Amino acid sequence: MRYICIKCGVIWIIGEPGAELSGGLCDRCITQYVREKQKRQGFDDCFRKATEICSKTECSYWEHCMPAYTNYAEGGKKG
Ligand SMILES: [Zn+2]
Repeated sequence: MRYICIKCGVIWIIGEPGAELSGGLCDRCITQYVREKQKRQGFDDCFRKATEICSKTECSYWEHCMPAYTNYAEGGKKG
């Protein structure tokens, strides 16, 4: 499936590139969007800035922020 970012127009492909084009937000725009939300909610705009496992597991974006680390977080926050 091919995806086009509804914000910046970048196109990326997940799996087989078909004729269909689906809309979404690219990684960069998601990052900007989430950081804006974090700031508005009075948190640090730390989304995807972490260089090690983030301790703020109560953050609603934790799992999106830490995909590379979720395998290490067994028994921690899950689902
Ligand atoms: Zn984008």
